Amino acid sequence: MLIFYAQFLPNNNLCSISLSLTNQAAISMNSQTIVRTRFAPSPTGDLHLGGARTALFSWAFARHHQGKFVLRIEDTDRERSTPEAVQIILDGMKWLGLEADEGPFYQSQRIDRHQEVIQQMLKDGTAYYCYSTPEEVEAMRERARAQGLKPRYDGTWRPEPGKTLPPIPQDRSPVVRFKSPQSGATTWNDLVKGPISIPNEELDDLIIARSDGTPTYNFCVVVDDWDMNITHVIRGDDHVNNTARQITLLEALGADIPTYGHVPMILGPDGEKLSKRHGAVSILEYEQEGFLPEAMINYLARLGWSHGDAELFSREEFIQWFNTRNLSRSPAQWDPKKLRWVNAHYIKNSSNQRLAELVAPRIQARGGNPEQVDLPAVMELLKSRAETLNDLADGALLFCQENRPALSAEQAEQLNSPEATLLLQDFYERAAALEEWSTEQLSATIQQVLKAHNARMPQLGIPLRIAVTGQRQTPAIDAVLHLLGRERVLTRLAHSLKA
Ligand code: GLU
Repeated sequence: MLIFYAQFLPNNNLCSISLSLTNQAAISMNSQTIVRTRFAPSPTGDLHLGGARTALFSWAFARHHQGKFVLRIEDTDRERSTPEAVQIILDGMKWLGLEADEGPFYQSQRIDRHQEVIQQMLKDGTAYYCYSTPEEVEAMRERARAQGLKPRYDGTWRPEPGKTLPPIPQDRSPVVRFKSPQSGATTWNDLVKGPISIPNEELDDLIIARSDGTPTYNFCVVVDDWDMNITHVIRGDDHVNNTARQITLLEALGADIPTYGHVPMILGPDGEKLSKRHGAVSILEYEQEGFLPEAMINYLARLGWSHGDAELFSREEFIQWFNTRNLSRSPAQWDPKKLRWVNAHYIKNSSNQRLAELVAPRIQARGGNPEQVDLPAVMELLKSRAETLNDLADGALLFCQENRPALSAEQAEQLNSPEATLLLQDFYERAAALEEWSTEQLSATIQQVLKAHNARMPQLGIPLRIAVTGQRQTPAIDAVLHLLGRERVLTRLAHSLKA
């Protein structure tokens, strides 16, 4: 067995692992047990919010206990698994900063090992060949249903002491079934849900290899969790039913049983299961929409877990505080407004330089040239009101275009009124004569114009904004004029005044 562990463990861990191996009962955390968690996504689509949160909890649990976090790609369903979906998972985890200590391991590359264990189980008598056809099994289920029983395989090929099995059909490839315990119950103390007990009679003799020899899903999970020495399995509660099956298999293999924790699903704001109709459900869509990874981590952490009433916390605090006791038993509710609020907080607290780097490509994607302006200064101007990086890019665009956007008829009319023309002309002359093009000087110039004409701020502010930016509303106009730069401001004003 140790050979298999060695495959997954750095050398310095072998000593303590072999200690825990000699002690099969060492499943609780003690000084000799290294916590090992895993995220085991099936690469059949996007990395969804629910999956990302499962990954986050598993990662945080490992980090909190100075353990190891393993990434295992469960790609044995060859028809539904795609390389693109694998890449999406890797990209999503990288973006969130959930680096795996080991892996990615690909389940599909471990089929030989799965088949080896199946052969061993056949030898040990914990699994058997079953020659019943799918039609026959369906008929067994029908019969059970008709008798008001749970539909199940009737055990035709299950070997028992003293039982004579039917003659083996010549032209049929058998499946392999697990000889599941028929009495008693499978019980575990779930980290989230508390004690769970499932009567063994409810568990069918699970098919562990199909008639073409390929191992089945639950079986692969079991062998991989065993070989990778996983101590704690944190996953969605849609897997609760699999857990009983997996535990019976692990017991039959003589393996340590991991501690399981099943987190409730995420609901949409309307209380229905979170789905596309509630908005983006894929992690990378949130990156595209301009959310920061630390905001996403903070928000996802609070979905179904809490630490007093702390809403905003760093990655380090989360690792320090994370425990499974504070995982909620009831489903969490997705709240897009709160996510935006969390993101706004992290934007406000990010350095202007970092924001500029993140926003520059978004400006380019909008047809702007981020080189045209002191972008960190623009970030400083905009970041207190932005909820996403896209908000910042939208706001920054006006500084990143050589020419002012074309005006609507209404804007042109406001600009060309005699009063506006008079005020703008005066402003133009005074601004052109400024020695220093600074926010303070521009602000003073605006005040001088207002005073000279006994006008109020909107009388100059609105036409000035329209003339220079093509928008009625902008952040503080003196700062906008400063950042746009003398040349662009004066050219645009001159152009407007001529028109
Ligand atoms: N591959 C499974 C899934 O993506 C998860 C298996 C597990 O966590 O045990 O749903």
